[in-house]
Amino acid sequence: MKGKVWLVGAGPGDASLITVKGLHCIRNADVLVYDRLVCRELLEEASADCELINVGKTPNNHPIPQDEINQILVAQALMGREVVRLKGGDPYVFGRGGEEVETLAKVGIPFEVVPGITSAIGGLAYAGIPVTHRDHASSFHVITGHLQQGKEPQDWATLARLQGTLVILMGMSQIDTICAQLIEHGKPADTPAAAVMYASRNVQQSAAGTLATLPEDVIRAGIKAPALIVIGEVVQLQSLLQFTPTAMQLNEIAGISEIA
Ligand code: SAH
Repeated sequence: MKGKVWLVGAGPGDASLITVKGLHCIRNADVLVYDRLVCRELLEEASADCELINVGKTPNNHPIPQDEINQILVAQALMGREVVRLKGGDPYVFGRGGEEVETLAKVGIPFEVVPGITSAIGGLAYAGIPVTHRDHASSFHVITGHLQQGKEPQDWATLARLQGTLVILMGMSQIDTICAQLIEHGKPADTPAAAVMYASRNVQQSAAGTLATLPEDVIRAGIKAPALIVIGEVVQLQSLLQFTPTAMQLNEIAGISEIA
């Protein structure tokens, strides 16, 4: 009998930002296949007999190639198990979730996708930055700072012309190039810009300045990956819209495993 794979978004970091359905899946999983950015607290919600498989990658070190992760999911499901593939943020936002589900679909393994709060929106919110605002940005654009090898380079001229908020994920190792290219292609050097590290975790930290100053601002503040880079007028609201999130323990949220 075939099992099933649940591709679940863990949310940006604060464990209580997982969806009700996602938490239900974790509590019912036979096996949990998880990434580096997934927090411990969520793993602790798995049952005592759930097998945990860490397939996390570090920036310079790729312990498990994507093909192998796909094969782990297939093999576990073919054993008839309820498999939860837990990914940071939303599984379809730069998470290779699409590639994983594609593999499952091709071999006929049942699957379900449980979306999560992406760091690109929820992470910024926790740093006091609304991704849109009627007075400041009527669109937003989520961009990867890390293109697959062999792909066309970024179209900086087009990106520099966009009026909406630019949110760049996986951009910290390229922050100098990103800021310099946007300025070179016409984005005003005084456009507000910020970087947010470990957004929504209790170690969240951010630095703000302008497109021209951000590369130095992040060094001064010690901001490194994983961090979001955000460029646009909405960054100005940060000092006003800061808040202290209420801490919420997942194990106090009972009863979710009875939903089914
Ligand atoms: N699927 C994820 C993104 C995966 S790509 C999502 O929807 O959020 C990984 C990149 O996301 C990191 O390099 C970083 O740029 C960003 N990221 C994810 N979680 C983050 C967090 N809590 N704080 C800051 N950046 C984060």
